[in-house]
Amino acid sequence: MRTGSDIAVVGGGLVGSALAFGLATRGATVTLFDPDADDLHASVGNFGLVWVQSKGIGAPAYADLSRRSAAAWDAFAADIAERSGENPAYERCGGVKIALSETELAALDDTVRRLHNQGAGDVEVISREALVERVPSVGPEAVGGAWCPADGHADPLATHLALRAALLGTGRARVVRRRVDDVTPEGGGFVLTAQGERFAAGQVVLTAGLGTTALAAELGLDVPLKPQRGQILVTEKLPHFLDPACFIVRQTNQGSVLIGDSKEDVGYDRGTTTEVGGAIAARAVRMFPRLAGVRVVRQWGALRVMSPDGLPIYAQSEAHPGAMALSCHSGVTLAAAHAGEVAEAVLAETLAERYPAFSPRRFAEVPA
Ligand SMILES: Cc1cc2nc3c(=O)[nH]c(=O)nc-3n(C[C@H](O)[C@H](O)[C@H](O)COP(=O)(O)OP(=O)(O)OC[C@H]3O[C@@H](n4cnc5c(N)ncnc54)[C@H](O)[C@@H]3O)c2cc1C
Repeated sequence: MRTGSDIAVVGGGLVGSALAFGLATRGATVTLFDPDADDLHASVGNFGLVWVQSKGIGAPAYADLSRRSAAAWDAFAADIAERSGENPAYERCGGVKIALSETELAALDDTVRRLHNQGAGDVEVISREALVERVPSVGPEAVGGAWCPADGHADPLATHLALRAALLGTGRARVVRRRVDDVTPEGGGFVLTAQGERFAAGQVVLTAGLGTTALAAELGLDVPLKPQRGQILVTEKLPHFLDPACFIVRQTNQGSVLIGDSKEDVGYDRGTTTEVGGAIAARAVRMFPRLAGVRVVRQWGALRVMSPDGLPIYAQSEAHPGAMALSCHSGVTLAAAHAGEVAEAVLAETLAERYPAFSPRRFAEVPA
């Protein structure tokens, strides 16, 4: 048996890396397990928005958590940049959703009304004139949009690299490049078996993306997740033309443009299709006609980690309170919260108490 740590974090994508960093900076010794194979797709294959508008409609706890996380992102990005030397390229530049028809604008208006009813007063529907003022490069088909100053974006790969380096820089963490096959409660703590080797830990948190469901079941935790594919196109680098974060078109700090917002139910297939690529490119060109003729240099597919209702699942075992699981489909947005208030709740073993709205109990059938 290898020497133990206070906490084992199983899965080193954005969720696990952010959590492990938050735990280590709060004084815990952490072992982060990840085979570091090529299955880090959600964490590095995503769109990079730190997004709050439209998050948590009908679910105020999720809306609030997203907002607290977005508000903490500035300090979080500065901290991991300073510790690692990597630049997460976070900008709280405001975000816009563009409507290409009156029907789309009416739908945005409906969303914004519902958000206002939940107390989100800073999201507003804007006219075409106001949109052009904020985004002068927008095309003639845009009829207006929804604007929120709290939205922003970051470079997900740089954020992930920064988190890993900052985690190791705390001197309290090790990364074990192995897949965890089994977690068993033992002697008041846990024993993890990772590709034949055994490790002891006082607490264990499962953050294995889509791999969480199977491991959680071993601990009696129900974490129902399924994949949802999104495809993204990346263009050649272009002169800067887009300041705010924009829902399906985003220009990175290096000039490339990311385009994508597909939602496909295709199981674990991470492939790409010309059909979806063509459709998302066509919509992007309608928003920004200057993209016509621009070269696409990459296209990828990545799998979202989706719960049945789209909200995070934060699970804690009743029988073994030191066993927890975290999953969400907005791991960039929530990274600052995972490294902050969520890490605190994990350390204190108060996850279930602090986040009742994200308990998997909500999926249990209501008795007749
Ligand atoms: C196309 C697309 C666009 C997105 N856009 C955004 C966005 O704009 N903003 C936003 O906030 N979010 C976005 N997301 C969601 C975001 O990427 C995810 O919420 C986030 O990456 C989930 O991170 P994770 O760490 O839970 O999962 P993953 O990134 O899937 O990482 C899980 C890790 O666990 C490891 N693992 C699995 N099983 C085991 C095991 N048994 N033992 C050890 N390790 C294991 C895997 O190797 C992997 O490294 C998007 C996702 C997609 C697919």
